[in-house]
Amino acid sequence: MNAPTERLNPASGHRNPLLDFSGLPRFGELKPEHVAPAIDALLGEGRAAIEHVLTAPNDWDSFVAPLEDANERIGRAWGQVAHLHAVLDSPELREAYNANLPKLTQYWTELGQNQRLFEKYKALAASPEYVTLSAARRRIVDNALRDFRLGGAELPPAKKARFAEIQEELARLGSRFSENLLDATKAFSIVVDERRIAGIPDDVLAAAREAAQKDETLTDGKPKWKFTLHAPSYLPVMQYADDRQLRQTMYRESVTRASEFGKPEWDNTSLIARIVELRRELAQLLGYRNYAEVSLVPKMAESPEQVLAFLEDLAQRARPFAQNDVAELREFARRELGLDPLEAWDVAYASEKLRVKRYAFSEQEVKQYFPEEVVVQGLFKVAQSLYDVRIYPSEAPKWHPDVRFYEIRDAAGQRVGQFYMDLYARDTKRSGAWMDDAITRRRKEATLQTPVAYLTCNFSAPVGNRPALFTHDEVLTLFHEFGHGLHHLLTRVEDLGVSGINGVEWDAVELPSQFMENFCWEWDVLRHMTRHVNTGDALPRELYDKMLAAKNFQSGLGMLRQLEFAIFDMRLHSEPASERSALELLREVRERFAVLLPPDYNRFPNSFSHIFAGGYAAGYYSYKWAEVLSADAYSFFEENGVLNPIAGQRFRDEILAVGGSRPAAESFLAFRGREPRVDALLRHNGMIDA
Ligand SMILES: [Zn+2]
Repeated sequence: MNAPTERLNPASGHRNPLLDFSGLPRFGELKPEHVAPAIDALLGEGRAAIEHVLTAPNDWDSFVAPLEDANERIGRAWGQVAHLHAVLDSPELREAYNANLPKLTQYWTELGQNQRLFEKYKALAASPEYVTLSAARRRIVDNALRDFRLGGAELPPAKKARFAEIQEELARLGSRFSENLLDATKAFSIVVDERRIAGIPDDVLAAAREAAQKDETLTDGKPKWKFTLHAPSYLPVMQYADDRQLRQTMYRESVTRASEFGKPEWDNTSLIARIVELRRELAQLLGYRNYAEVSLVPKMAESPEQVLAFLEDLAQRARPFAQNDVAELREFARRELGLDPLEAWDVAYASEKLRVKRYAFSEQEVKQYFPEEVVVQGLFKVAQSLYDVRIYPSEAPKWHPDVRFYEIRDAAGQRVGQFYMDLYARDTKRSGAWMDDAITRRRKEATLQTPVAYLTCNFSAPVGNRPALFTHDEVLTLFHEFGHGLHHLLTRVEDLGVSGINGVEWDAVELPSQFMENFCWEWDVLRHMTRHVNTGDALPRELYDKMLAAKNFQSGLGMLRQLEFAIFDMRLHSEPASERSALELLREVRERFAVLLPPDYNRFPNSFSHIFAGGYAAGYYSYKWAEVLSADAYSFFEENGVLNPIAGQRFRDEILAVGGSRPAAESFLAFRGREPRVDALLRHNGMIDA
């Protein structure tokens, strides 16, 4: 058999670096003009592979394997382009990225809707070969069938047409929802003079001043400051501005965005109703009672009832702590700030004042103890002690001189994986922090391909001869992303579709990352991971105690707010159709659980993009769900010693190494020896005694 995928099987030294799959990406040689030819060639190859396998026998080797090969190459090549687009953007690269992205989308859509391919997976699942496949391969076949079904592949023609119509309308409504929100956000600004800026931090004021100077409508020449509803302007005003009227004005504008209080063409109210209705219809076409059930099919949680019971139980437990947080805040605001009653636009402001008063330590002070090298070595040490691996600096082609490259080896000295670390903020880098896969572990006949990961952050770079200093928050972020990295790198799975983080349910995918964060709060870890940049001293115990106390400031209130949104989302997508609006449902949820009721004009649903324009519909609970798993997993270490290598080995074997090759619930059970419990999360948040 001469599979079409063999035609482009290039050796090292291929002229187009994107078509070279012999080893690590050839960053440095990769140019924007390589993108289109490589993508066109690889998509052509992918389509040829699909055509070819459609006539091949229905067994793994002649049908699934060649498809995986072709799709892996597309993913690897495009992954490099997307990575550079995110970390080293240029106008030329952006153009190449945007020009090629639709081709990729088109390809994956075609693949997902290929009826004949679906039939082949069904035939494989029904064949005698299926039971002889490894658990990982059976899961890949099952996942493929599931995704085809959820994409409407099993519907009769008339229903299929309606299904496509709904999907198309939902995509349009979702993007309209975000556009309305963005337009409404952009439409408001407030310009103030110096009498109204008291309390606001200098960097925020500098940006507001610049915004006012750029505004040509402000011509009287007096100094002015312009604030907007974008988060970097809005949040500091709410948190710091002494001018209560300014806070009130901006609060009202923010919470009524894209509602009936603004321009009618930006009102999201009717869009929300339509989106919910269409999602329900879509679910019913697929044979489910409601959209929440559809959303949960590929997730770890089993049913909307289970998720609601989980959320409501947590809300009941968090509520007394939230009530306490609010009572304290009201009392403080009345006594010390003269704010009585405490209004919605006072909450962030009074909270910040209370926090500073109670836990007086500065982030600047803490930072002096976290020089980059000490933190990175501390992180590696944790990983090495837990998982019985060694991490060494290594060499690879890089996209920027600041990038560092490492290799992980097992106890026998065998290479397990490699990773890039690109830690500093740059003008050409997208904001935030993330882990992405460059190469995934898999077996290809006799050779074993080891995984490679990108770890990207946006920390401040070193200044002059001083090392980069990280805030404690940045240290947490680094541990978090490294946790995702370990999930990808320490896998032992040998089939692409469920290797590393592939195929892991998304309400469980944050388990390893949030798990790693816990170590940043351990005295025994921090003692060895801190060194004052001038004196060389480790973090003083007294400062550590203050950090720990501040960690749980208002944790009840914070948790309850997240739970309100999650309960609202799950009920909205699981309850039968009714006359009640989304806003009325949210009010009902708040009356039952919330401890701070916002003003009547609050239109939170109209800006809840996560569930109406993002991928979080009936999925907002995932944040808390994964937190329960990670806290409960960590409690096993608290019980057995936080750096206990036997516990570490078990975590590696049962959670990290298995990736998506079995359900996350089974992996958790295998690791913990029982079902997840919420106790550890509550304890970590100061809601039950240690
Ligand atoms: Zn994460």
